[in-house]
Amino acid sequence: MPKGLLIVISGPSGVGKGTVLKEFMDDPALRLSYSVSMTTRQMREGEKDGVNYHFVTREQFEEAIKNDELLEWTEFVGNYYGTPVKGVEELRNEGKNVLLEIEVDGCCQVKKKCPDALTIYIIPPTMEELESRIRGRKTEPEEIVQQRLAKAAKEMERISEYKYVVCNDDVKLAADIIRVIIERHIEKNERAGA
Ligand code: 5GP
Repeated sequence: MPKGLLIVISGPSGVGKGTVLKEFMDDPALRLSYSVSMTTRQMREGEKDGVNYHFVTREQFEEAIKNDELLEWTEFVGNYYGTPVKGVEELRNEGKNVLLEIEVDGCCQVKKKCPDALTIYIIPPTMEELESRIRGRKTEPEEIVQQRLAKAAKEMERISEYKYVVCNDDVKLAADIIRVIIERHIEKNERAGA
């Protein structure tokens, strides 16, 4: 079995990445494995430590950077986020296709280290729709909402960093498109490893 793919999925917060991914994440044919990131941000209602993120202190995160334990990392809206390298490599060596849900700075770092990574950016149908989805969460103060919107606008100027851009106007359609992209890349990877 060839080494699994490294798949990067990005998109502004509020675009519905989680909802889209849920549509195919457990499909056994795709052999996907979700890389759980490390973050210093506060846990939101409904989130679980070790499932959504590994929630750590700034000191713990800085220690991980110092020890070179992260494949990539960034500071986003006042908090650190990063991908622990160990789990990713182990899973890929087992033939699992590892999916990273990270932002654009992280994607650029991953591309440098793994030029073969499959990179996909999910865009909202409009910025107005994105704003209403972020506000709909009602979990964050206005200042953070504004920072997330500013970050989204900046990020979307960099979508040319990605191999594919998919619009999440309809969750099922966006999920089907991404599933096909992943399937084709799995086939290509298998042919190359045969
Ligand atoms: P949230 O706070 O909404 O969970 O995530 C904020 C942003 O951080 C999202 O765009 C998400 O994709 C990104 N993110 C989550 N984990 C990581 C990570 O490990 N590395 C990087 N670079 N970004 C991440």
